[in-house]
Amino acid sequence: MSLVVVGSMAFDAIETPFGKTDKILGGAATYIALAASQFVKPVNAISVVGNDFLQSDMQMMESHGANLEGVQVKKDEKSFFWSGRYHNDMNSRDTLVTELNVLGTFDPVVPESYQGCEYLMLGNLSPDVQRQVIERLQTRPKLIVMDTMNFWMDIALDSLKETLKLIDVLVINDEEARQLSGSYSLKVAAKQIMEMGPKYLVIKKGEHGALLFHDGQVFSAPGLPLEEVFDPTGAGDTFAGGFIGYMAKTGGQDFEDMKRAVIFGSALASFCVEKFGPERLIGLEEAEMNARVREFVSLAHFQI
Ligand code: AMP
Repeated sequence: MSLVVVGSMAFDAIETPFGKTDKILGGAATYIALAASQFVKPVNAISVVGNDFLQSDMQMMESHGANLEGVQVKKDEKSFFWSGRYHNDMNSRDTLVTELNVLGTFDPVVPESYQGCEYLMLGNLSPDVQRQVIERLQTRPKLIVMDTMNFWMDIALDSLKETLKLIDVLVINDEEARQLSGSYSLKVAAKQIMEMGPKYLVIKKGEHGALLFHDGQVFSAPGLPLEEVFDPTGAGDTFAGGFIGYMAKTGGQDFEDMKRAVIFGSALASFCVEKFGPERLIGLEEAEMNARVREFVSLAHFQI
């Protein structure tokens, strides 16, 4: 089924206890598209980059099934740049730099060929832009999933709340859920956030897995213990890409479908953290993903 994803395409500079990178490929839409392409092709992307963005990165994304017709290239402008430093536990990080550059004035264009899409992933960027994409689609997709982060809660909370009214599923991490709701208990936070609009909520808890909430029900996906965690950047976007990709592939829409989507999203995210940036997702084989999904199943399976 047809899928549209919107989000940043970026340069990232990352510091972890294991090393440091200069500007490398990053951005929410980049990770989402690479993950979702495990399930559906094309992944129709909407984003904006500057003339510094590498042609080779665009080609790599296209070779993985991304359709970049909706990606604007702004001559004489710079791509979005983000820099972050992870703490020793790798579960938390500080944002060092956010340079919006082309994202600051982004006016998203929905190509005619994207109209009628059934699944929409609103990756991390300004909630105004996320809402514009919904409004510029002539028919409402069957499922709208949205990601966001503390940066937008800090500077655009009212707009974020407007966008929340229009979506079906919100995917955020535990810290963001607490900030958005003002409640420490994730159960209470989930209830409060779902009252803001989304009928489903996924709360990611880093290495401790993820929770899916809907209408009084909760599903818990484990965090797979990994020997190597090198760089968590993009794990949340990869999760979101796997989640929406699985839903789009299976035509899913309900809580039971989403339980499986959470496992596929978690499996893909577990690859993402093994190398810097999106490196581990490039050329990832379907068989590798399926083997890891089986690890998740055996990890959480028990009988009483
Ligand atoms: P994650 O680790 O899943 O939270 O995502 C990290 C990615 O999000 C990086 O590749 C960044 O380029 C991108 N990113 C960071 N801050 C923002 C922002 N304010 N808006 C859009 N994308 C962002």
